[in-house]
Formats: sequence, C-alpha cells, structure tokens
Amino acid sequence: MNSSSDRSSRDDSVRHRVVAIDGPAGSGKSTVAKRLANVAGLEYLDTGAMYRAVTFAVILRNVDPEDSVAVTQVAEDCTIVQHEDGTVTVDGVDATVEIRGSLVSSVVSLVSSHEGVRRELVSRQRQWVRTRGGGVLDGRDIATAVFPDALLKVYLTASPEVRATRRTSQGSSEAQTGNSDTNDDYERVLLDIQRRDKLDSEREHDPLRQDADAYLVDTSDMTIDEVVALLSNLFDEALRSISD
Ligand code: C5P
Repeated sequence: MNSSSDRSSRDDSVRHRVVAIDGPAGSGKSTVAKRLANVAGLEYLDTGAMYRAVTFAVILRNVDPEDSVAVTQVAEDCTIVQHEDGTVTVDGVDATVEIRGSLVSSVVSLVSSHEGVRRELVSRQRQWVRTRGGGVLDGRDIATAVFPDALLKVYLTASPEVRATRRTSQGSSEAQTGNSDTNDDYERVLLDIQRRDKLDSEREHDPLRQDADAYLVDTSDMTIDEVVALLSNLFDEALRSISD
C-alpha cells in the first residue's frame, strides 16, 4: 500500500530530473555524482554528509548514539548546510574536516540505522529536490527509498580493496579539503569500509542494496572519466525516453 507521501515523492522524482547514485563507501559515488551533476546542469547533494553531520552533532552534544529517541531529536534539531565551496556547517559550526574523520566514520552507521533519523533526513532530501526541480543525489537508499521513481538509478561498486586504496590515497591528497577519511592507513580504512558495508546492508531500515531498476556499474577497473561518460550517456537516454 502506498501512502500519499510515497506517491508525492514518486510524482516529484518523475516530474523533476532526479539521478540516484547508491553504493558502498569508496565506490566513487561522490566524485562521479559531482561531475555528472556538472555535465547534466543539475545540483548535487551528498546525503552521506548529512548523516555524518548528524553524527557530528550527536558526538558534540554527548548524546548516546544507541539512544534512538535522543539521536532522532538531534537530527530534527540540527541545521546542516552544504555550501557551494564544499564546506559543511552544522548549527553554524564548520564541520567539514571533522565529518570525514575517523571518529565520525566509526559511529555514523549506528546513527544512520535509527528510523527517526532516516525519516528526518529523507524528508529534507525530498524537500531539497523539490525546491530545485531535480538534482543528483548519492547515498545508500536514494533509489530504493528516497526517490524510487528517479529518472536514472545507478548502483556503483568496486572491490573492497580498490575502495580502500581510493580512500587512502584521497586521504593524502584531499586531507586539506576534508574530502576523505584523513590520515587513515590502508588497513584501517579497509576494515572500516567492510564494517560499514556490513552495518549499512544489514540494518532494518532502508538498508544498502541495489534497486531492481538500477544500472550496476563496477568501477574497479574504470577511470572516473569513463564512469562519468557512461552515466552521462545513460542520463541522456533517460531524458530522451521521457520526451518521446
Ligand atoms: O557516503 P558516506 O560514506 O559519507 O556515508 C556515511 C554513512 O552514512 C554510511 O556509511 C551510511 O551509514 C550513512 N548513509 C546512509 N544513507 C545515505 C547516505 C549515507 O545511511 N543515503
């Protein structure tokens, strides 16, 4: 049975140009999603940064991350802004570096598993799309739960080893901009990725999984340019299919 809010999210995603990119950590989602958004003339929303921002606020306020009522309250209260220059503020505090750090990374999957947190952030994500008339969103549940009728759905993946290598090399080159798990070594990043994959795919509410309608793209042996070119073609095809 579909609720009216489910129906309205469907109408929105069909009417608007929504590209949903899901996949595990380090699959290249955010880099690819940003580039695709540029090519497609859409804005980009990093939904992982939203869950990380709530986690940052939970830690800052000394809230027990297991306490679903208290954590949901934090999610409902906190103001998260993703600025055009890539910085992320939480309640006006610049948290760009902290949200990528190992402390937040170690707790974010637990915080994200609470139903109330997901309800709040999914509602903000739908609102974000509504005010823009579309967008490219990356995360874990965009195609399966947030925009089930997105114009284009993609599931990006890569082997855990390739993903850990990417995250580690990002750590050295992008540490200054906060776009990675800073200063993490390969083994620790690999373990963190495997632990988060397990938690994210086994949780009760909106677990990470490939949607039946999503294109599966294994990026292990692909360059970013190749992935962006592939997705850009799929996006053009999807646009043609709705204008026919
Ligand atoms: O994408 P990123 O690795 O920054 O996401 C951090 C965490 O946020 C994920 O491991 C997952 O627990 C959570 N997340 C989620 N749903 C999303 C995006 C992220 O549960 N749509």
